[in-house]
Amino acid sequence: MPELPEVEMRRLYLEATSFDQPIDSITVEDQKLLTTDFNTLQESLYNRRFLSTKRVGKNLFIYTDNPSVIVRMHFGMTGDLVYYHNSIDRPRHARIVFYFKNGFCLGFVCPRKFERIGLVSDIDAYLKQKKIAPDALSIDVGTLSDKLKKRRSPVKPVLLDQATTAGLGNWIVDEVLFQAMIHPSSISADLSDTQVKAIHDAIHFVLETAIAREANYRDFPPSFLIHARQWDASPYDDPEAYKFCPRCGTKIEVIEVGGRTTYFCPKEQVIS
Ligand SMILES: [Zn+2]
Repeated sequence: MPELPEVEMRRLYLEATSFDQPIDSITVEDQKLLTTDFNTLQESLYNRRFLSTKRVGKNLFIYTDNPSVIVRMHFGMTGDLVYYHNSIDRPRHARIVFYFKNGFCLGFVCPRKFERIGLVSDIDAYLKQKKIAPDALSIDVGTLSDKLKKRRSPVKPVLLDQATTAGLGNWIVDEVLFQAMIHPSSISADLSDTQVKAIHDAIHFVLETAIAREANYRDFPPSFLIHARQWDASPYDDPEAYKFCPRCGTKIEVIEVGGRTTYFCPKEQVIS
């Protein structure tokens, strides 16, 4: 699933390809991908240009030259973007296409149809209505602390809740808690100020590292827990090393917390 780092890659891709080109038309293969009806989308975006972007968690907002016409994209499970010239075939699964007047196109690739596009007129109002908290890279430590200390639930599901902070998915929360050395089942309200600060620091460290490595998991530092998931070939010389904590060598444990598969180091991440 595209997580925050992947959505950030798509944001940068859109900025590098699709800005400042008047939109001529839009085609939509499946109306269920839209959160705004097709005619409104087409009419509102005709002759508009994309000018800037804002990412909040996994929501990508694109401002146009009409301040009350803002496109929202959500990449669902497998969504992606592809910019191409209209002289070549429409890429596979590009189910929504923005045709620019210069002959180029931006395709919204939706293999599994969990992706969504629509219009919003006010981003703050939209986020408030959907109860989406500030982005994980924008939230300040005081706000995060208030939100964590209000909840008497295990910290992992609290961090996954988009009303706590936006953009933290399953592997990211495991990595944050591993880097902060906090057990995923620790009660959120019982965290000390030092632990909350460690979580805030770890969120920045994990997300900024992932974005800097362009979300290529294989390139993440060996000190990351993510290699235990074996999504890519292990970066370790020893093919068995992924099973053990890169800090202390203890065997990594896999449990369920809040119904989600959870990796952690049982020696260093203990419930205090
Ligand atoms: Zn360890």
